[in-house]
Amino acid sequence: MLLGYALTMNHLISQRILYALRVRKVKRHWARLLGLTALTLWVFAGSAEALNSAQNAQYLADKDLSAEAALDLAVLRAAYPEVVAGMSRGASGHLELVLADGARLVYDDGKPRTSKEAEESPDIRTMLAQVYPLGPVTEQSAHPPRGFDPGRHRVQAFFLALYGHSEAEVRKSCETVRFDGHGALFSRRHGAAAALSRVESRLAPLTPQHPEWNIILRPFGGTLIWRNIAATSRLSVHSFGAALDLNPDLAYWLTERHPEKIPAQVLAFPREILEAFEAEGFIWGGKWAAFDLMHFEYRPELILKARVLRGDVKLPR
Ligand SMILES: [Zn+2]
Repeated sequence: MLLGYALTMNHLISQRILYALRVRKVKRHWARLLGLTALTLWVFAGSAEALNSAQNAQYLADKDLSAEAALDLAVLRAAYPEVVAGMSRGASGHLELVLADGARLVYDDGKPRTSKEAEESPDIRTMLAQVYPLGPVTEQSAHPPRGFDPGRHRVQAFFLALYGHSEAEVRKSCETVRFDGHGALFSRRHGAAAALSRVESRLAPLTPQHPEWNIILRPFGGTLIWRNIAATSRLSVHSFGAALDLNPDLAYWLTERHPEKIPAQVLAFPREILEAFEAEGFIWGGKWAAFDLMHFEYRPELILKARVLRGDVKLPR
């Protein structure tokens, strides 16, 4: 009986020990799970904070930029949201435009530039510095001062990032847009082709009423050609499928023998054609000192900057 009691007690004790062990095991399991969860949360929180502070360190807030830099960044972001990420200060201390792929382009290197230097090697600030004279041509805008070529100072690396780094890449992004009875190859990127298509929609109903436009529109000069600007090693914006030439016989600064006659031609240029292009984000080469009356170029950032400065639109800050 004693043996029986001892065995029973032993059994009960063993059960208790086993139960206690099991409970401890379960407790340990929960403790481990809780610990792991806490660790995961901590790591997540830590990395989110690290990412946040990295971003804060990488991109400057508008309040830390000059009014000019903040506006330039805002119009570039609005025009090319997939490409433009922010601004930050580079290792050299200069402000830089940071692109979505991490590339950095100097925004302001602080160097004063002659017109020639602004054309050949602008920084982003120089590219946007001359404000495009939006709207109908005036006596003043028909007589631009020497070197006033808003839109002609292009940072080539920026255009390569916008439209493609090779002819093949650019062509892949192009589609055919109807323009005055022609099929024009234009880049789909950044809404360029869609904008040209809207220009066509604006002009198509008007063209039959204006036989005098014939000499302006025809023959059609074309759009996409991967080529350098005459007498330079810089790519023409036609290389990117983002520019269009009307009749190539229209006056061009390099070949024009009577530049004194240009302001009259600029003033006589059909207002409706100019309006249709500008309304859709294109600038006109007729407003440049280095006049190019056939040339329209998709530059929504310049049109937007001109509108903001004129007080037509407010950009969200
Ligand atoms: Zn052109």
